[in-house]
Amino acid sequence: MRIKKLPVIGIISAILIAISGCSEKKSVQSFFAMNTYMTFTIYGTESEELSGSLQKEIYKLERLWSVTDENSDVYKINNSEGRTVLVDEKTAQLIDFSLIMSEKTGGAFNPTIYPVLKAWGFTTGNNRIPTAEEISETLSRTGCGKIKTDGNSVTAEKGTMVDFGGAAKGYAGDIAVDYLKNKGVTSALLDIGGNIQAIGTKPDGSSWKIGLRSPFSDGIAGTIEITDKAVVTSGNYERFFIGEDGKKYGHIINPVTGYPVENDLASVTIIGKEGKVCDALSTALFVMGYEGAVDFYKETGGFDMILITEDEEIHITEGIADSFSTDGKDIFIIE
Ligand code: AMP
Ligand code: MG
Repeated sequence: MRIKKLPVIGIISAILIAISGCSEKKSVQSFFAMNTYMTFTIYGTESEELSGSLQKEIYKLERLWSVTDENSDVYKINNSEGRTVLVDEKTAQLIDFSLIMSEKTGGAFNPTIYPVLKAWGFTTGNNRIPTAEEISETLSRTGCGKIKTDGNSVTAEKGTMVDFGGAAKGYAGDIAVDYLKNKGVTSALLDIGGNIQAIGTKPDGSSWKIGLRSPFSDGIAGTIEITDKAVVTSGNYERFFIGEDGKKYGHIINPVTGYPVENDLASVTIIGKEGKVCDALSTALFVMGYEGAVDFYKETGGFDMILITEDEEIHITEGIADSFSTDGKDIFIIE
């Protein structure tokens, strides 16, 4: 392991920095969808109109993938009582993708974790610590072998419930990027509830500068420069509750124990080409912990990552050594 010291980059107050020195027409629109705030920064003459029509596309995905909307595909699956149901092709693709990612990550990414999440109250906001019996009962209803797809038909075993919260924002981001690229957009930055997806560069040709939120303060832990990439972070500091025992319980569940993840990692950021892959991996590698994440990276590759440990250390992969900087904090390179 090598330590890299980088020069002070100055104080940056915004989490996301998207400043253009160019006079090209720009649209910046923020809205609430899929249970999160989204901000689309799009350049080009049609940017305003495209942003509006893209928001409509996102609302369509929200209607498909909401766990609470009684008309959603996910609700349909979760209340199917073992019957086969027909879903939108985008939902079928999201399920197939999630099952593949579950397999690739040895089950760390698990879209059938919903019964356990429910027991912990993460779905309603009425958080509580479930009993050991509830945890083992809900865990027994999870497992990716309990859900099958055939084209747009989905069959989930009775009692099995899905939640694509671990990858849906990344999936929506990829759909949004494709939508804008097909409309000729060459410069845009999409913030989808903290998932960042960039199209091309800023209009002046420089890369986008993304502030990485610190898990320990309201400030940023560092800045990453990207072009045409996705940057997705998972951590238990985002959604958590303090139990009656005074302990902190986060929203990412270890599918083996049924308990919220508690390990040596405070956050995992994945940088890669596809938002959906980065999103699923950020959740999965957070579950795996430091050693598991590094082993996974070494075995598979194809992405870069920033691991922030509970000891407040920042570890990054070689591929982003030149594009990631901090305001003087040590950076450890994963080798
Ligand atoms: P993210 O912020 O992308 O890491 O996603 C976290 C969300 O994914 C949680 O709020 C849950 O809805 C869901 N989730 C929790 N644990 C898991 C897991 N082990 N695998 C897949 N999804 C999970
Ligand atoms: Mg995720």
